[in-house]
Amino acid sequence: MRKHVVANWKMNGSSLLVDQIVDRLSSSSFDVDVTLCVPFPYLVQVRSRVADHPIGVGAQDCDERESGAYTGQVSVAMLDEVGCDLVILGHSERREYFAETNIIVSRKIKVALAAGLRVVLCVGEALKQRDEGSEKAFIAEQLSVLNGLTDLSCVSIAYEPIWAIGTGRTAELSQIAEMHGFIKSVVNVPVLYGGSVKSSNVASIVSVQDVDGVLVGGASLVPEEFVNLCRNAG
Ligand code: PEP
Repeated sequence: MRKHVVANWKMNGSSLLVDQIVDRLSSSSFDVDVTLCVPFPYLVQVRSRVADHPIGVGAQDCDERESGAYTGQVSVAMLDEVGCDLVILGHSERREYFAETNIIVSRKIKVALAAGLRVVLCVGEALKQRDEGSEKAFIAEQLSVLNGLTDLSCVSIAYEPIWAIGTGRTAELSQIAEMHGFIKSVVNVPVLYGGSVKSSNVASIVSVQDVDGVLVGGASLVPEEFVNLCRNAG
């Protein structure tokens, strides 16, 4: 199965960077599927720029309601209308800074799937749970938001240990293998790894059993680095 490289720009980037990255990606060829999850204002630009290339377009969040007086929010219908393929949900930064609970994440997953979007559900433990040895129980709880869904064909999981996000500290390959195996024993869908993935470590990470791709933050913002990462992931 082809690996999936999902770029999470977070609240970074610019219209110029969209052009630079799409130009670099579209003039290279890879053996991986690539999706660019950019801030809302750049979705239309990315969609139109990648029209002739096999590059996906994704958002980093959505609201759980259809429409209405929710200032600042963006609905799944809007994401669908501008050509989004995918939405990242439950990222640890949304959980931490925007008080997103499993209940809210579960509602968002349902509306996103109903709108025909592919969902990347982020799960991952903090250092506290890892030190306590409760990381699997914690992740099982996060995965329980999928309970009751009969069709998971449009769902992927991103396993992102919080202590490895943006810290330069990647989980050990044995830790990745163990957690991906555990996640797949709970829910049999593609599982991506996220946390300080770079062009220099991606090949070893994607070679680990049960790693179906990567979710990439910082390294997806540097055109040369991201293109090399996609190449090395294939
Ligand atoms: C992320 O936040 O999804 C992420 C993986 O970030 P980074 O690659 O910068 O650790």
